[in-house]
Amino acid sequence: MRYISTRGQAPELTFEEAMLTGLARDGGLYVPAEVPTLTAAQIAAMAGASYEEVAFTVMRPYLGETFDDATFRSLIREAYAGFGHVARAPLVQLAPNHFLLELFHGPTLAFKDFAMQLIGQMFQASLARSGKRITIVGATSGDTGSAAIEAFRGLGNVDVFILYPHGRVSEVQRRQMTTPVEDNVHALALDGDFDDCQAAVKDMFNDLTFRDEVRLAGVNSINWARVLAQVVYYFTSAVSLGAPHRKVSFTVPTGNFGDIFAGYIAKQMGLPIEQLIVATNQNDILHRTLETGEQRKEGVTPSISPSMDIQVSSNFERVLFDAYGRDGAVVAAQMAELKDNGGFAVGQGAWEFLKDHFASGRASEEQTSQTIRAERNASTELLCPHSAVAVHVAQPFLGEVPMITLATAHPAKFPDAVEAATGERPPLPSRMADLYDRSERVTRVPNDLSALQALIRERITH
Ligand SMILES: *Cc1c(COP(=O)(O)O)cnc(C)c1O
Repeated sequence: MRYISTRGQAPELTFEEAMLTGLARDGGLYVPAEVPTLTAAQIAAMAGASYEEVAFTVMRPYLGETFDDATFRSLIREAYAGFGHVARAPLVQLAPNHFLLELFHGPTLAFKDFAMQLIGQMFQASLARSGKRITIVGATSGDTGSAAIEAFRGLGNVDVFILYPHGRVSEVQRRQMTTPVEDNVHALALDGDFDDCQAAVKDMFNDLTFRDEVRLAGVNSINWARVLAQVVYYFTSAVSLGAPHRKVSFTVPTGNFGDIFAGYIAKQMGLPIEQLIVATNQNDILHRTLETGEQRKEGVTPSISPSMDIQVSSNFERVLFDAYGRDGAVVAAQMAELKDNGGFAVGQGAWEFLKDHFASGRASEEQTSQTIRAERNASTELLCPHSAVAVHVAQPFLGEVPMITLATAHPAKFPDAVEAATGERPPLPSRMADLYDRSERVTRVPNDLSALQALIRERITH
């Protein structure tokens, strides 16, 4: 299996190389040269299988020679062993044809653990084999950073630097990043918003000298291996509701488009998905793009669902690549326009493609709170604000086809918003109840590329 860049100008890589690299050297994102498919019989055979077995079946065709089967099985087993639920991704019923996929039983209480825990295992196995060391630099609006730190803390041959927007992550998210005691963990609070953090990381990757010097590796949602790990729960949940014999739809709380893109891949692989619905908060660039055929930045307004507070959605480039018939030159031109002019118009054919594959909706702050409250009363489920955005957006799409809405974080990760909506403060699960007592370690940094690079050079544990 070969991986190609969405901008068509970077070398083709193996799975292992694409995983260790993250962003392609031409600024693009890696995607498989072709998406493997599973037969209806293979999908039907997933019924009753463990999460780990389904994970192996879904991901194995993408790995090529990177790991032998026995090794890959043991990496999967290790990755999910620390989850607080035997099903890993349990499905609960909200209403007659509406189900909630709980993706928050991992060590940092958000769905990003599904990908990050596996990536941690795969990186470690790969680096142990080669004897090389790497520097992971990531930007986070909260959950990616804590998941990355949790996955890489204490691992040999790796330093992990996480940039988060100062003052714009929840206290639980911050503490999950600043309380680990391991030397290879570096939490950096940047003076700026999430897009500034993301831009700083992109600029470091595009500085090829720096990139090679510190052996930069990315674990943001642009990393193909992360998208891949997220494809698995689309299969487990759909099969438990009758796929491949019955269709299902999904509504996904969306920020960087990584999670819903994984759903799109599941569909390409043969999972019968009726609708994929993009749910955004008031930072609704994706909803507007699908409605108007034009993608235009408008700045970020902080919300109670901060992990979706973005204006540029990096994984959108992957679906745009398909929408343009995999023409990397067109994608490169549109991305340049977005960077230079703050927006671009999607071509007519590409827009049709997008509308064929995705529906969308947005939830205001008030609608989000209202949904948390209503769901508590109707089903007793306590939703985090991100999951509530999606439950709200799913409503007009409910019907004959079962709807699976993704619950991306545990309510205790966003206790203030949940308490404001319901009067009830969700407690942390007992395994992390001492989080508020641990001491914090963080470096405040300016939004300045060369200062950041100097800090990283100085800090890496050679
Ligand atoms: C990251 C995140 C999202 C958005 O996921 P994307 O893959 O970036 O679209 C939604 N909810 C929560 C809780 C998150 O952490």
